[in-house]
Amino acid sequence: MKNIRQDVLANAKTILIKVGSAVLTGSDGLDLKIIDSLVSDMSSLVQKGYSVVLVTSGAIVSGKHRMNITESLKSIPQKQAAAAIGQGRLMRVYSKSFEKNGLYVAQILLTFSDVTDRQRYLNIRNTLSTLMEWGTIPIINENDTVAVDEIKFGDNDNLAAMIANIIEADLFINLTSTDGLYDCNPMVSKKAKLIRVVSECSEEMEAAATDETSSAGTGGMKSKFQAAKKVTAIGIPCIIAPGKKKKVLIDIMEGKEIGTLFLPMSHRLNSKKYWIAFTLRPRGKLIIDDGAKKALLEKGKSLLPSGIIDVEGDFDLGDPVVCVDRKGAILAKGLVNFSSAEINKIKGLKTSQINQVLGHKDYDEVIHRDNLAVTKQNLKSKTS
Ligand code: GLU
Repeated sequence: MKNIRQDVLANAKTILIKVGSAVLTGSDGLDLKIIDSLVSDMSSLVQKGYSVVLVTSGAIVSGKHRMNITESLKSIPQKQAAAAIGQGRLMRVYSKSFEKNGLYVAQILLTFSDVTDRQRYLNIRNTLSTLMEWGTIPIINENDTVAVDEIKFGDNDNLAAMIANIIEADLFINLTSTDGLYDCNPMVSKKAKLIRVVSECSEEMEAAATDETSSAGTGGMKSKFQAAKKVTAIGIPCIIAPGKKKKVLIDIMEGKEIGTLFLPMSHRLNSKKYWIAFTLRPRGKLIIDDGAKKALLEKGKSLLPSGIIDVEGDFDLGDPVVCVDRKGAILAKGLVNFSSAEINKIKGLKTSQINQVLGHKDYDEVIHRDNLAVTKQNLKSKTS
């Protein structure tokens, strides 16, 4: 197992690091010592030739502390106001600390709608790659002041998983307040064992990961697990590690057995398919038969009307939908070439009958393979 880690690290050049609020804060608001120590590690990595992008939480906690608020913030406007106060301070602290190490930082605040819009997604990608070319440290957080419900990433683990795809990171290090992923909740059971390597993100493991959080963070281990699952699906390894441990980043990059390493899936999604699979919210559901399931999962084929048993939801041409099997297991997500009303009319039919039933046939496939991301894990197929 030791060599797997070294193999993974040997190929890492661009590293995405995410730091959670629980790591960055002490009893007294932002923990400046921890930030200095992480910044010093990141700066050493840059000096060694790595490109580093940082996703950081801590704005809300910092703003709350500034306002001397001790109880937890209940309403969304309160959290947004605290983030508006804290984000500036967070950046000032990072900026000062990185400048001591001769590096400049750049602030990027994003909402979910920024990455679901393909054009804005590409703009973010271009900006980030220029910042990296210039040798600066992009520091990314959710734009909490404007983000509510449907435009919220939910938590910074999810945001970091999106960024890992955008920058095509070679490694995603998620620094948190625990030592890594355990086989059961370590806060509840003394028998909980740290898992060193995860080669496949199984449903059992996901179920065992708790969504309980520290008082400062959001998401808990479940969202860290889900973020690891997302990035490993596009071939990016992930390490969940204890952020308060001294020299944690240096030790990780030197190959020390710290935290939990998630190995990349051998079947990897390309960037566009990742965007479809994990960025777009589905507008409906296609229930497909066993023949279509096999064609999608094992042969990398497109989805034809003949394999569709039923349609749920109300969607238009171009909308994202999930494909599920008869038992409801999600197999794939893709962009449809027909509306839900049209698919209802052509489901179960041969491609040659589409024109006759609809009076037009712009496409043979309901979802073309190029717009179809197979998300079911552990496939034997060669599709991408
Ligand atoms: N964006 C939030 C902040 O900076 C944190 C979200 C999270 O912890 O996932 O305070």
